[in-house]
Amino acid sequence: MSIARKILLVILDGVSDRPIEGKTPLQSANAPNLDRIANLGINGIMDTIAPGIRPGSDVAHLALLGYSPYEVYTGRGPLEAAGIGIRLNEGDIAFRCNFATMKDDIIVDRRAGRIRDTMELTRAVQDGVQLDVEFTFERSTGHRAVLVLRGRGLSSHVSDSDPKHEGTPSRIIEALKPEAQKTADILKEFVIQAGKLLEKHPVNAERIKTGKAPANTILIRGAGMKPNIKTFSERYGLKGAIIAETGLVIGIGRICGLNHIEADGADSDIDANVRSAIDALKDHEFVLLNIKGADDASHDGSAEKKIKFITKIDKALKPILDIKNALVVVTADHSTPVSIKDHSADPVPVTIMGPGVRVDAVRVYDEINAATGGLNRIRAIDLMPILMDLVNRTKKFGA
Ligand code: ZN
Ligand code: ZN
Repeated sequence: MSIARKILLVILDGVSDRPIEGKTPLQSANAPNLDRIANLGINGIMDTIAPGIRPGSDVAHLALLGYSPYEVYTGRGPLEAAGIGIRLNEGDIAFRCNFATMKDDIIVDRRAGRIRDTMELTRAVQDGVQLDVEFTFERSTGHRAVLVLRGRGLSSHVSDSDPKHEGTPSRIIEALKPEAQKTADILKEFVIQAGKLLEKHPVNAERIKTGKAPANTILIRGAGMKPNIKTFSERYGLKGAIIAETGLVIGIGRICGLNHIEADGADSDIDANVRSAIDALKDHEFVLLNIKGADDASHDGSAEKKIKFITKIDKALKPILDIKNALVVVTADHSTPVSIKDHSADPVPVTIMGPGVRVDAVRVYDEINAATGGLNRIRAIDLMPILMDLVNRTKKFGA
C-alpha cells in the first residue's frame, strides 16, 4: 500500500450553509465531482474554531494551517499588509483601509462604488500627507488599501474609524489604552489630510461627472503589529504554497511562510487556480487552494447564485480526481448561511481523500451526510495533525 506524500487543501470559502426550504445549497447543487471525492474519502464535520464561535476567514485559515488564532492572531491589518507584500518590522502598526464615499459627514458608501483603479488616489495620499512618523500607504484589491505606521512609541490599541455600515458618520478613532494616544492622534491627522487631498483629486471629479461615487475619504480598521509565527516549514518540515484570490488569505499564507503562487489566469478563474494548485504540488509538499465566490453569493443573500457557483466549482475540481499519491482535503473555512448573509458557527463539511484513508459510507458532499462520516466532528486545529499522521510524519507520543 502506498502512503501519501503530499497534501492539497482545498478551501471552498463559505460554501457551508443551513437548509433553505429543506436543503442546503450543497445538497441542491449538482456536484458529481465533489460527491465522488466524498465517496472516495473519509468525511466529517469541523468547527473551524470551536462550537458556537463564528469565525472570520482569517482566524479560520490560521486554524486550518494548525496555528491557534488565540496565540498568533494580531489583527487583520498585518495580514492584509502581508497579502500585498509589505514586510513589517518590529514595532510597525498595520491597518486595513477602505476608500469610501462621505457626504455631509455621513458615510454613504463604504466601498466608494466598489472603485477598482485607486492607483492615482493612493499615490496622492502617499506623496501629499505629512505625518510625525514614517508611513506607507499602498493599494490592495478593489477599494481596499493598507496603511503602515513606522516609528517610536506607536501602539495597536486604537479603535476603528470604519462604522461597518452606511448612513452614519465615521467613528472617532480612540486610544484604547493611554499609551496609544499618539497613534490615535496620528491616524486622525492622516484621515483629515487624506480627505482633503482626495476631495479635490481629478479622479474623483471625473467619477462624480460620470455618476460614480467619489472615493473622498479613508476608513481605517484592524490595527495590528507583526505576528510572531513559526513558519510552516519550521513547524511541519513541509514546503508549502498558497493560491488564493483575496489579499487577506494570501497574507495569512505569506505570514506562515507559504509561497504565494499567482495563477496563470484571472484571479477569479477557478479552472486556472485549480490547474496552478495541481501544478504547485510538483515542487511543494503542501498546497492550500482557496476558492472564493460561494461566500460572496451568501453575503449577497442569493441561494441561486450560490448553487450556480457550487456547480462551477465542481466542474473546475474534476482534475483533482486524477491526483495520485497525495491527500486531497475539501472543506470550508466557515459556514456563510444565505439566510443570515454572514458567517455562522455551524460546522463545515470536511473530506479527506487519498492513500491510506479509512473510506466511509458517505456518498455525497454536503453538511448533512458529512456528519455521518468516519471523521465525526473535529476542530480545524486538529486537521494538520491528522494529515501529518496520514503522510506518516508525526512523532510517536510515548514508547
Ligand atoms: Zn471565508
Ligand atoms: Zn465572508
